[in-house]
Amino acid sequence: MAEEKQGARQARKQAICRKAQRRHSHFYARCAHWSFNRSGEIEPIRWRRERLVLAGTALLITLLSGFIMPAWASAMRPAPTPEVHSLLPLALPKITPANFTAATVDDWQVVRVQPGQTLSDIFTARGLGMTDLQKVMDTAGSAKTALHNIRPGQEFDFLLGSDGSLKGFRFDQDQASRATIRLDGTRPSVAIQQRDLDLREQVAHGVIRSSLYAAGDQAGMDAAMVGKLADLFKYDIDFVQDLRVGDSFTVIYDDIYRDGVRYGQGNIIAAEFVNQDKRYTAYRFKKADGSYGWYSEDGRPIQKSFLRIPVDFTRISSQFTATRMHPILGRMRAHKGVDYAAPSGTPIHAAGDGVIKYHGWERGYGNFVVIQHNNSISTAYGHMSRFVKGQRVGERVRQGEVIGYVGMTGLATGPHLHYEFRVNGVQRNPQTVTLPKPEPLPAVQMARFKAEVVKPQLARLTELDARITLARANVRANHDN
Ligand SMILES: [Zn+2]
Repeated sequence: MAEEKQGARQARKQAICRKAQRRHSHFYARCAHWSFNRSGEIEPIRWRRERLVLAGTALLITLLSGFIMPAWASAMRPAPTPEVHSLLPLALPKITPANFTAATVDDWQVVRVQPGQTLSDIFTARGLGMTDLQKVMDTAGSAKTALHNIRPGQEFDFLLGSDGSLKGFRFDQDQASRATIRLDGTRPSVAIQQRDLDLREQVAHGVIRSSLYAAGDQAGMDAAMVGKLADLFKYDIDFVQDLRVGDSFTVIYDDIYRDGVRYGQGNIIAAEFVNQDKRYTAYRFKKADGSYGWYSEDGRPIQKSFLRIPVDFTRISSQFTATRMHPILGRMRAHKGVDYAAPSGTPIHAAGDGVIKYHGWERGYGNFVVIQHNNSISTAYGHMSRFVKGQRVGERVRQGEVIGYVGMTGLATGPHLHYEFRVNGVQRNPQTVTLPKPEPLPAVQMARFKAEVVKPQLARLTELDARITLARANVRANHDN
């Protein structure tokens, strides 16, 4: 009986072993012809080496992922911000003269601003009072303007004494200078330290496989830079509907380095985007007045007079139709706008610069805004849940400015924006209407733009594309071999 069991166990063991070998056989079949000496004899891999090969591979993977890759990654792109030490609400042990060593290094605590936090919130959370904040303000001098408007993500360093008193406070006055306030000396003092800022040019090339952000990430761009790229081409490409697998982009951009550490993203210098085989370009150009703008290869501003879509929508719930059969009334009824479904409260942006012509309730449209852009063109926005405080008829709005929020006021069955594009008072299909082309650069600037920007940058983009195409061809050739 015991022997039978033993035999059965043995047979099962062998079966598992065979199965494992079969499973791995595709691996052995693939590497069986690997050889470092093409003309030499190929030594077949013996089965008893399997464990050795697997163990070796596992060790290699561990080494790579554990040590080499993180070290390499951090060497390639240093962390943009210092580590955040969050403060635990624990009482620190009191430092008594007995355990106090002479060579103590100041232990600055880095605090990152959370959304909605004020500077006094941050001070209070550290157990500090308004008098401490006032002392910092008084000592900071001209640097204190940087403390009036703090942003989430910004960092402040605190140096606290053993008794919890404020000994020092450190903050960025601007991108290139850092202020350090000391309150532990004989007199409060502030020191401004200039920081070394430099721009480092990067190039990236991505191909869309799943999403724009995934492609950017794979090309080594951070999300903010991908956002800038999308922002640049948003007038020509609808990234929600038009993006296709196989679309590609090439970008030359700056990263900002501070004291040798990557600090943030700079500007896009040149970019091209191929969307459904149509090529779009953008080049950064310093205009005559000293400000910068982006222009396509033919010298026209990238920024168009109108946004094609004024809301970040989830789907189009109703298209523009000159006539449509009303499902309930059973007669033809036109829908002279596009309905963009979006969650209630989604901001609605002015499609272009203009003046508010209507602002209030309109039958059917609910809360309604009309913007007059020029003599002939106006845009209209319906069903808003609410308006933006302070805006009224006659007021100027800039393109992109928020003018209200998505809702379902008036005749609406769900939250959406009803958007109309009107030419001389007649509604046109906002999705297909030919938008006025922006004026190209004037002749003198155009010549400078072509010679100083397009010629050299286009050469670089073309060279990059050629190199990537060649690399891909090589990969394909290797696969075919
Ligand atoms: Zn509608």
